[in-house]
Amino acid sequence: MQKLALSDDILMKVEKPARYLGNEYNVVIKEPTSVDVHFAMCFPDVYEIGMSYLGIQILYDMLNRRDDVYCERLYSPWMDLDAILRERNIPLFSLETQSPIKDFDFLAMTLQYEMCYTNVLQILDLSQIPLKSEERTLEHPFVIGGGPCAYNPEPLADFFDIFYIGEGETVYYDLMDCYKEWKTTGGSRKDFLLKAAQIEGIYVPSLYAVTYREDGQIESFAPTDASVPKKVKKQVVTELGHTFYPEKPVVPFIKVTQDRVVLEIQRGCIRGCRFCQAGNVYRPNRERDLEFLKKYAHDMLISTGHEEISLSSLSSSDYSCLEELTTYLIHEFGKKRGVNISLPSLRIDAFSLDVMSQVQDVRKSSLTFAPEAGSQRMRDVINKGLTEEDILSGAMDAFNGGWNRVKLYFMLGLPGENYDDIEGIATLSNEIAAQYYTIPKEERPGARVDVVSSTSFFVPKPFTPFQWVPQNTTEEFKEKQRFLNQKMREQLNRKSMRYNWHDFDVTALEGFLARGDRRIGEVIYHAYKKGCMFDSWSEFFHYDRWIESMEECGIDPAFYTNRQRTFDEILPWDFIDAGVTKEFLWREFEQSQKELVTPNCRMQCSGCGCRVYEGGVCFEGTN
Ligand code: SF4
Ligand code: SF4
Repeated sequence: MQKLALSDDILMKVEKPARYLGNEYNVVIKEPTSVDVHFAMCFPDVYEIGMSYLGIQILYDMLNRRDDVYCERLYSPWMDLDAILRERNIPLFSLETQSPIKDFDFLAMTLQYEMCYTNVLQILDLSQIPLKSEERTLEHPFVIGGGPCAYNPEPLADFFDIFYIGEGETVYYDLMDCYKEWKTTGGSRKDFLLKAAQIEGIYVPSLYAVTYREDGQIESFAPTDASVPKKVKKQVVTELGHTFYPEKPVVPFIKVTQDRVVLEIQRGCIRGCRFCQAGNVYRPNRERDLEFLKKYAHDMLISTGHEEISLSSLSSSDYSCLEELTTYLIHEFGKKRGVNISLPSLRIDAFSLDVMSQVQDVRKSSLTFAPEAGSQRMRDVINKGLTEEDILSGAMDAFNGGWNRVKLYFMLGLPGENYDDIEGIATLSNEIAAQYYTIPKEERPGARVDVVSSTSFFVPKPFTPFQWVPQNTTEEFKEKQRFLNQKMREQLNRKSMRYNWHDFDVTALEGFLARGDRRIGEVIYHAYKKGCMFDSWSEFFHYDRWIESMEECGIDPAFYTNRQRTFDEILPWDFIDAGVTKEFLWREFEQSQKELVTPNCRMQCSGCGCRVYEGGVCFEGTN
């Protein structure tokens, strides 16, 4: 049996020691000395969250298919173990072979949300790897970042050697080959980075220089070596039917956030909601083949022993074979074997209600609607493509189908929002509740309806038509939230309505980090040194330490968060070619100001720029 990195005495002290033991079901075991490349793959948050993320399972499987590579995993040690590792000077280790991360060739981290940035520093620090890339030597691993936050990697530029922009399946094999070749030459660290920067989709921040104008805006952003491309082009898998997918995902021994087989039915989204970064950067929409999905559903249920299968997609209702797939899953696994089937991100319509009633206990479950905005005007501004009639008739169908619990998601602080739009959230919630009471008493699924409305605060993100707009200040958010709370209380059906809202300070920080440039790396560093970690966990979030760090670094958060940018301004992420062009995004911004809706990709192509990937929805019906 594998020798553990932690003694029994430590394991007895920490919460959920299984987080650190490895040896889970389906884990890949190789002899590290028998491979050329030893690779550590990290999700910088606690085990239960990281283990639920499909992307790591895909890359873990893909890298381990190569005999010359061994990929192991690690997650953020929880606060209790963090303190022990520091106190006893124990280097952070991998789960599979319990080896120190500092001895690996690569350490890759997926960046799924901005609030994990200080956890990135925690991982490096506990691994005893210098936090800043410029301080690393040949003794240290190359540190790679990827995931949605890599679409603006600049706030983390000082801490990573390499970023990949796009889908990991596309670049890793080339990067491994490049590394093996470099190793035989005995070159310097910079030699490898120069070679790696030639691979499409790879960004090496240390090979680019930035200058700033007096007003703080970027003056220039350019490579420092002629061999390095000016623009880094996002890489995507064009044909999802012939790509890597884990037949035998690793199965944890402890309960994790998503304890089930995950079936990724498509990538990207045909809709163009203007606030949505995922809808823009994952373009074009590409679907997986139905037969591929049936086979994998079968194989993964057998190889994991899971009793639940979940579809993964940004917008499941838009998958063209959804009806065939759900009928197959319900018939083959639900009815015959008692496997639970979970179908998130469905639009509420007659078909989805029918499917949901077959797979869930209607009386116990609640239905989720995401109108995002309360008024039709605002839904047109954000291109939500959902009318009030769609929402009300969907709710009515749901009530007639036996549901009496509804969750509604909205955003406050959308561009151009006025107080009528905000009041619209309260009146729409009220109307939904009112619909319920139009059903004759004896036919209602329950005595009362429960309408829970939640608001998050809008954060403008890179590569969206709203990337130029100011985010509301915390005071504005507070004012709007108070106003809405009051309006909710004034509604006739208030006793059937509840209202929740998101944290103000977390939103302010998320906005600061999302559109930051290289200069804010110093703020992240200071915040980490003051003890900030697990910022997405409210019990560990210390906004005061962040504010102190900004002050110490002479950084004004309003410059990043609350400022209107112009089309001509060089944005920190402009060097990335994410498929969607800046011209398209600006056009969409102008359409939003005119409150005009843009059709979805299946109705009509809007020329966003993603046809260059030569696949997916852009070419539907042309074969
Ligand atoms: S439907 Fe809209 S919000 Fe949802 S993923 Fe697509 S673009 Fe984003
Ligand atoms: S090129 Fe057209 S069809 Fe393709 S993703 Fe862009 S808007 Fe949609």
